Amino acid sequence: MAITRFAPSPTGRLHVGNVRTALINWVVARQSGGTFILRLDDTDAERSTDAFAQGIREDMAWLGLAWDKEARQSERFDRYDEARWKLVEQGRLYPCYETPQELETQRSLQRARGMPPVYDRSARSLTPAERTALENDGRRPHWRFLLGNDPVGFEDLIRGPVAFEPGHVSDPVLVREDGVPTYTLASVVDDMDMGVTHVIRGEDHVSNTAVQIELIAALGGAPITFGHHPLLTAAEGEGLSKRTGGGAVADLREEGIEPMALVSYLARLGTSLPIEPFYDLEDVVEAFDFATISRNPPRYDPADVSTLNQKWLHGAPYEVIADALGSLDSAFWDLVRGNVKHAREAHDWWRICNEFITPVLDDAAFAEAAADVLPPEPWDETTWKAWTQAVKEETGRKGKELFMPLRLALTGLDHGPELAGLLPYMGMERVKARLAGQEA
Ligand code: GLU
Repeated sequence: MAITRFAPSPTGRLHVGNVRTALINWVVARQSGGTFILRLDDTDAERSTDAFAQGIREDMAWLGLAWDKEARQSERFDRYDEARWKLVEQGRLYPCYETPQELETQRSLQRARGMPPVYDRSARSLTPAERTALENDGRRPHWRFLLGNDPVGFEDLIRGPVAFEPGHVSDPVLVREDGVPTYTLASVVDDMDMGVTHVIRGEDHVSNTAVQIELIAALGGAPITFGHHPLLTAAEGEGLSKRTGGGAVADLREEGIEPMALVSYLARLGTSLPIEPFYDLEDVVEAFDFATISRNPPRYDPADVSTLNQKWLHGAPYEVIADALGSLDSAFWDLVRGNVKHAREAHDWWRICNEFITPVLDDAAFAEAAADVLPPEPWDETTWKAWTQAVKEETGRKGKELFMPLRLALTGLDHGPELAGLLPYMGMERVKARLAGQEA
């Protein structure tokens, strides 16, 4: 049974790129009847806010991606501290006193000599007396994890075998000068404590993975399976950023995108399978397969989301959309669903049938002739045909000449659902008034 987690920092709004990560993790947990954890990476007290955390929960709930447990890193500092001292005892975590400027100078020199800009570990040769002197000088240490000398390899669920040679990355800082653990330490401790079995995240984290694997081993944790998916790029070819807000879930919701339409889009974007509407999350779970995920960065295009949303609505059975329709019944939904881009437009059509509109009339005589041959009520879906047949006989008009003036008079618009379906909802009195050019 897989235990997965989605670990956003509550420093911005959820965007489509995050949701793809969340969705894959959610699916992997569900496929095995496992556990899906929502972990808020909020160690950065300055940038993390409760409002962003709440926004993330709301977006996840709206998408239907229910989580079994929630954790906040800001409540777990004790655990990070324990891990820290354990590593110190093992001699794997060592204090360093270089300032950012000193480190930058060191890197420039290394680059100038054609060497990789890897931290030279000089702090490890400081004597206790030198350390005391630095501290008396007011310097506070940051702490680095001593990486091993062996290559680290792992089998990525998406990228296949990945190998890291030693000596190419600096010993990572696990505890900052102010005592706050970095993401690397906090994340590994959480993954271990929570029994996480699969870490699936964006490709931007692949370079952290070798370090995390070493850290898990040093802390005695069970091995984790990793998967890194390519990041979405925006239609303009730029990366999506939660700070600039591109593709924010809340904006898409506001726009009228259906949650399942967005889930459907993200379930298939960047895979070898066609994008198609899903109406049940269970089907998304069943259809998901790592083997279909492409190695190329998929292009996120809001226009594609809109197109799929429309397609999704056209095919949406009443049951899956009933909440958004409120008092509208299933017959009415079936009538209008082929003509809406957003579910709320169903209400617009309801109002067109039941509330005032301004009819568009360019031939009053024709409209009057049509009104004269309206069949008596009660009306049903056969009324339209009987009526237009009578109008045709009366006026000699046919085709568009016949239908368009009636549509414009009855709805005020030149497009829309079948009038045969709308007519009974309007009723004789209203139809007569509209044909007479009255607002009705
Ligand atoms: N908070 C990290 C991020 O949003 C989590 C990365 C991870 O999944 O390990 O990038």
